[in-house]
Parts: sequence; C-alpha cells; structure tokens
Amino acid sequence: MAKKITIALAGNPNSGKTTVFNNLTGQHRHIGNYPGVTVEKIEGRLNYNGYQIRVIDLPGTYSLTAHSIDEIIARNFVLEEKPDVVINIIDASNLERNLYLTTQFMELGVPLVLVLNMYDVAQKHGVTVNEQRFSELLGNPVVFSVATKKERMHAFLDAAIDLVEGKNIFAKTSIGYGADIQAELKKIEDVLVQDKLILEKYPSSWLAIKLLEKDDEVLRKIKKSKYADEVLEQSEQSIQYLEGIFNDTPEAIIADGRYGFISGACSEAVGLNYELRHSVSDKIDGFLINKFLGLPIFLGLMWIVFKLTFTVSIPLMNLIESGVGGVAALVGSLFPAETALKSLIVDGVISGVGSVLVFLPIILIVFLAMAFLEGSGYMARAAFIMDRLMHKIGLHGRSFIPMLLGFGCNVPAIMAARSIEDKKDRMVTILVNSFMSCGARLPVYALFIAAFFPQDMAGNVLFSLYLLGMLVAVLIAKLFRKYLFRGEAAPFVMELPPYRMPTVKSILIHMWDKAAMYLKKAGTIIFAGCVIVWFLSNYPQDVSYSRNYDALLQSQKGYIEQIVELEKQREAEKLKKSYAGSLGRLTVPIFRPLGFGDWRLSVALISGIVGKEIVVGTLGTLYAVGDDSAALGRALRNIERTDGSKLFTPLVAYSFMVFVLLYIPCMATIAVIKQETNSWLWALFAVFYTTGVAWVASFVIYQGGRLIGFQ
Ligand code: GDP
Ligand code: MG
Repeated sequence: MAKKITIALAGNPNSGKTTVFNNLTGQHRHIGNYPGVTVEKIEGRLNYNGYQIRVIDLPGTYSLTAHSIDEIIARNFVLEEKPDVVINIIDASNLERNLYLTTQFMELGVPLVLVLNMYDVAQKHGVTVNEQRFSELLGNPVVFSVATKKERMHAFLDAAIDLVEGKNIFAKTSIGYGADIQAELKKIEDVLVQDKLILEKYPSSWLAIKLLEKDDEVLRKIKKSKYADEVLEQSEQSIQYLEGIFNDTPEAIIADGRYGFISGACSEAVGLNYELRHSVSDKIDGFLINKFLGLPIFLGLMWIVFKLTFTVSIPLMNLIESGVGGVAALVGSLFPAETALKSLIVDGVISGVGSVLVFLPIILIVFLAMAFLEGSGYMARAAFIMDRLMHKIGLHGRSFIPMLLGFGCNVPAIMAARSIEDKKDRMVTILVNSFMSCGARLPVYALFIAAFFPQDMAGNVLFSLYLLGMLVAVLIAKLFRKYLFRGEAAPFVMELPPYRMPTVKSILIHMWDKAAMYLKKAGTIIFAGCVIVWFLSNYPQDVSYSRNYDALLQSQKGYIEQIVELEKQREAEKLKKSYAGSLGRLTVPIFRPLGFGDWRLSVALISGIVGKEIVVGTLGTLYAVGDDSAALGRALRNIERTDGSKLFTPLVAYSFMVFVLLYIPCMATIAVIKQETNSWLWALFAVFYTTGVAWVASFVIYQGGRLIGFQ
C-alpha cells in the first residue's frame, strides 16, 4: 500500500507553480472549487518512491495577509487542511521579493521546502545561490530548479519526502523583529496560552504576530474565544506602546523585520554579480557594508561614539563624585564626634550610594548611542561586518561592540551583550569582558609606570597592558567556546532591516530601561559590597594605637602641617590593624611567588574589589601620604624586602599591574554579571576564574622574567 501524503504548491504569481504542477502530475488533474468561493482549486496526483502524493496548486500570492480572497484561501488551506509539506515555489530571478511570502510560511511553522525556480534566468542575471548555506540560514531545505526544462523536480520531491519521514531536518531559524516587538509578542503569547482550543489549530507565535498586524481574520477568530477580552486588551496595549515608540504601525516594523531577515540571508548565501539593487537601504549598504569601506567606516563611527561617550560622561562622573563628597562632608559635620555611626553613614552608606550613582552617566550615554545605532539599523550592519573576524575567535559579530565598550567601562559593556541572540556567545562575551582594560585601571598603571619605568618607555608599557588584556580575552573566549560552551552556534540570519530614523521616544525609553535595570538590580549589590569593604577596613574599632594620637594632636595646637601628618599616620595605623589589614597579611604568601609579597599591596588589592582605582587611594592611606602621588611613588620605591633589598623592580611593578588588570572584576561588574546571567553561580565563577587567570599570568611574567635575567 502506497503511503498517502498531501503537498501544497504555493508561491508568488508567475513563479512557475503551474509549470511545476504540470511537470509533477501530467494529465492527472482535477479542477474543483474551494468551499464557498469561486476560486478554482486545482488538484492532481502522482506516485513517487512508494508514496501516493496529492498535489494542490494554491492561488499565487505575494503575502499571507487577510487582504485578498487568494491570500485567505492559501493560508487557510495550509492552516486548516494541514498539508504534509508546503512547497514554496520562488522566482529565483526576483529572490528578495519572493522570499517575503516565504518568511510568512516560516512564521506559520509549516513543513516547508523552498524551490528556487527559474534558476536559469537568475544565473543569467549573475545570481548564484549556495544551496546548503541558504538551507541552513533559512532553516528549511532549499533546492533550485528550472521547471520549463523539468530540471531537479525529483530533488525537491526527495526533500519533501525527507521532511515527511523526519530526515535531513534543518534546525529552525526564526526571524528577528527587534527586541521591542519581540517583547510585546511574548506578552501576547503569554495571554494566548490559556486558550487551548485556538492553539490546537494555530501556533501562538503566529497568532501574536497577526494580532499586532491587526489581521481581520484572526481578530474575528479571537473574538469568538472565551479569552477574547484579555487577548485583545493585551494586543491593543502592545500596539499602542509600539506605535508610541516607533511612530509607525507594528505591521510596518514587522515587515521591516522580514525584509531585514531576507536581506541578511541573501547577503550571506547569494552571490550577486550585477543584479541592480534599487532600494535606498541597499544603496547605503553599498557603502556601509562594502568589502573595503565597511570596516574603516565602522571603526571610525565607533571611535566617534567612544570619544563622545567619554568626553560627556567623565565630567558628569566627576561631578557626581564631588557631589557625593560634598554631601558626605555636610552630613559628617552634623555629627559632633567621631562615632561608629558617623563612620557608617559617611564612609559606608553615602560612599556606597556614590559608588552606585557614579556609573549612571556612562550607562545613560552609552545606551543613548547604542539605542540610536540599533534603532537606525546600523548596529545590524556593524555585526555583519565584524562577524567574519569574530568567528575566528569563536564569537559572533555582535560580540564586538560589548568587547570594545569594555575599554571604557565593563558595566555598560556587559549590559550591551543583550543584543547577542545566541546564548553561548552571550555568556562567553560577558565572562571575558572584564579583561578589556577599563578606564578605572588607568590610575593604577599611571602610578606604577611613573614610579618604575623611564619616561620613554611609558607609552609602550601602557599599550602592552591593553594588548595583554585583549589577548587574554581572546584566548579565554576560545577556550570557553571549546570546553565550557561547546558546539557551533545554530546558523541564523543576521537581519539587515531597512534604515530608519529612530524616534526620540524610543531612544529615551531604551536608555531609561537600562538605567532603571542597573539601579534596581545592580545597585543593591554594589551598595552592599561597598558597605562590607567599609566594614572590613574600619573594624575592629577599639584599636590599640602604638601612640596616643589624641594627646599628640592636642599638643600640636595650631600647627596644621603636623596635625595633617598625624591624622594620616593614625589612618594608616587604623587600616593596618583592621580586618582588611589582617586579611592582607594573611594573603601575603599568595602574592609572594608573583613578586609583590607585601601586606600593604595585598590590602590595596582587597579594597580594589570595590573599584580598581581604589588601589591607589588605599596605598596612599597605608603609606600615610594621602593623595600625593609623587610621594606615593617614592614610598613604593622605598619598600624593602626582609633582606633589605628593594621590593619593587620594573619586573615586579609590571607583574603587579598585570594582576590589577586581570584579577577579580570590580563590584559593579560582578553585580551586572549576576544581573545579566541571572545567576550568582556565574558571578562567583567570574570572580574566581579571573583571579586565577591573573595569578597565573603574573606568575608566568614574574618567574619567566627572572629566568631570562630580569630582576
Ligand atoms: P504560476 O503563475 O506560478 O503558475 O507560473 P507559471 O507556471 O504559469 O509560469 C509563468 C511563466 O514562467 C511561464 O511562461 C513559464 O513558462 C515560465 N517559467 C516557469 N518556470 C520557468 C523556469 O524555470 N525557467 C524559465 N525560464 N521560465 C519558467
Ligand atoms: Mg498558475
């Protein structure tokens, strides 16, 4: 007994459906009517490979909206009669336009074979298609054919039968419509799930899209449902929200998403020799993703964004810092005496809040720029340009921007990794980001380079540190991709949506969303971390000082310099005898093999967890020099080992800077890693593995350096 299956032929008018149909069924055709309408239903049969195949030639359509009878018939046949396979006949000489219908079949999630017919004409136009790559990208088998010459009819029948038998299935790819649409679709689907009855017939993802598009037919069906009110309320709300931020209908944005998908897939798998590309976006892309100009333009743009971001946000960050300092001084002056409560409020709470707020300007400005690049459509091109290079290190084109942003600040950089769809790529990008040397490490480098390297070497030393961070990031990314997050990413299309001017509202919403997320989620963790470090460096309170500072201060009546000097010494002694000081002494053996076994350096590294620039401040306190960096440099040069030799040599200084570069990310970075991976485990993993990497790197540099003759 032959197995019976049904195949529907669908496609744009004039794509060659009827020619294919006749090739397949020969004389065995039957013309009937679709129920209730005057449209002809053309049906035929053939026997092939043990299958009795019923073939339906559906009316030709450009889309699957509910705007015309033909479209409704085609889609209802597919949805309601559920043919075993839909064969989508595509005019390969007019590929991008024909694929618009294809994207809608993909949305329907039906078993699909894509036939690129009229391949002879396409080839004359200089179009060549990589069948395998295109199949992977579109998630459905692609076969080219020439129906008029009966070429490759068996090839697509075989592909159809494979689908029926569950063989040679490609991993499904989905069309990205952008994060905003996607989020609203999800909300609608979440309401739709209750409606089991309607979901038996129609996929919820498709219904959600159709609701955003205000599809009459779907609206009619939903209105009959028990959950109509809830569903319609949600879709209405989503439509309004999207219209508000895009200044355009969701329908248009969804169409952009489809065109973007097509454009991206074609750019990757279709060779075009001279087909005229006519739209404005295509013309712009001629420049922006041009083989030669693309990269320089991209790097230039990123440089401008970078420059702009930092010139604007650094003064703001300084302003916040001095504002917080002012508040601390003001609040401090309200306390009559140096009590534990005063210290908690002034040095713990207020500076903790300050540590949270100080990142706000940079987050706002980075995401202002990102929202503009994303909304205009350029970001998709940037990812496209960088993709090949990033693949070499096992990452995706979209990882490039977070990595680059890391040079400024790892906090917004890690948040920017959200735009990476692939989960593994995203995790790797987040986990290696802190190796990109952020701005806060610069003061540490500045101090040590000035103190231990000749002026003419300073630039090279600094550059080598940045380079080393990058190399470590690439190396670890490769390792993670190989062992921790294994496997090739499923192939997916990088959408190239048409360019559009983003609305101010959408940019502001994105910017504010990021800021709110940071304040709400990361803020509390950063704050708690600061308070803990404050506690470690201020307790125990009842220190037995080596000298009676109070009495000494009393006796210095009026000698400002001596008073300041005594205050500094008292601070230093207090820190030395605090828990942080004890912890520093405890950890000295860990750092000895790296060349810098001195308890003060350990304490500085511990307090550097709050922020790496704090390493400098802590050293200043410990050496009782305050923020006089020249004096601090001298103090560092004078540290002696137990045998009386100087502790720091250029090699040791370099080893120390490498450690600062690579070790534990700062509190704010740890907090956003937790926030973005939604897991304490990954945040802790980041803390420990980076410190491990730092130790190994410093060890290799210090011990290796000594082996080849450095001091
Ligand atoms: P339908 O509207 O999709 O049913 O398309 P038809 O089957 O009627 O074909 C439209 C025109 O394209 C006819 O003139 C066909 O002869 C021609 N045609 C169909 N397939 C091919 C092909 O592979 N190559 C070429 N050169 N012409 C084709
Ligand atoms: Mg026809």
